[in-house]
Amino acid sequence: MRKPVIAIDGPVGSGKSTLARRVAALLGYVYVDTGAMYRAMALKALRRGAAMGGAETSSTRTLEALASETRIDLRAEDGGQRVLLDGEDVTGAIRTPEVAQAASKLAVVPGVRAVLVAEQRRAGARGGVVMEGRDIGSVVFPDAELKIFLTASPDVRAERRWREHQQKGEAIGLERTLEEIHERDRRDRERTSSPLVCAPDAVVVDSTAMEPEEAARLVAMLARSRAAEISR
Ligand code: C5P
Repeated sequence: MRKPVIAIDGPVGSGKSTLARRVAALLGYVYVDTGAMYRAMALKALRRGAAMGGAETSSTRTLEALASETRIDLRAEDGGQRVLLDGEDVTGAIRTPEVAQAASKLAVVPGVRAVLVAEQRRAGARGGVVMEGRDIGSVVFPDAELKIFLTASPDVRAERRWREHQQKGEAIGLERTLEEIHERDRRDRERTSSPLVCAPDAVVVDSTAMEPEEAARLVAMLARSRAAEISR
């Protein structure tokens, strides 16, 4: 019996990773964080000193060429995921504000997206996967059995992100964090190639006043009922 694909999309700090990880654990599905793939590509581009303009320029072609010669592997581990960039473990290295900004600039390049989307489709082809990102329900798996669009108020999203920075000892203020998430959200929503949108058939979940466990149980319950529907 084919297991569903669960697509979770939403803006920065909406709680996608926590939700997707938890739902995957509750259902025994594979968790795939596609943002980590954009981040890994961005880390490589930063290390190479590649310019990330986004327009139709030579920098676009350089980034597309870089994407096609890069290998990104996601390995499931302890309910989370390790990220390998050309064989190097970059799981921690990609979680910096600098890499996040670079990822959102690189993510506007259609040729880079095409390479990563093909990889994501391969990862989810057999179902039984919880995949999170910006375009999973709209582009990567438009036929996903369950689509969730996760939101939360901007203040709550900024505070969550800021706490994460604090825990890692990164000196970035709450104001700057708020600006940073606005910048990335705007780029994600306004780009022409696969912008962040709420798919018309997505279930909108507002996590502002929800405990992560509550949201996870809700989504797992919806997933089980979709799985039962497709097995009929
Ligand atoms: O989810 P995360 O914040 O780690 O993603 C980093 C960046 O990668 C996002 O700001 C977004 O620009 C890009 N991204 C994307 N499509 C996805 C996942 C992430 O464009 N499916």
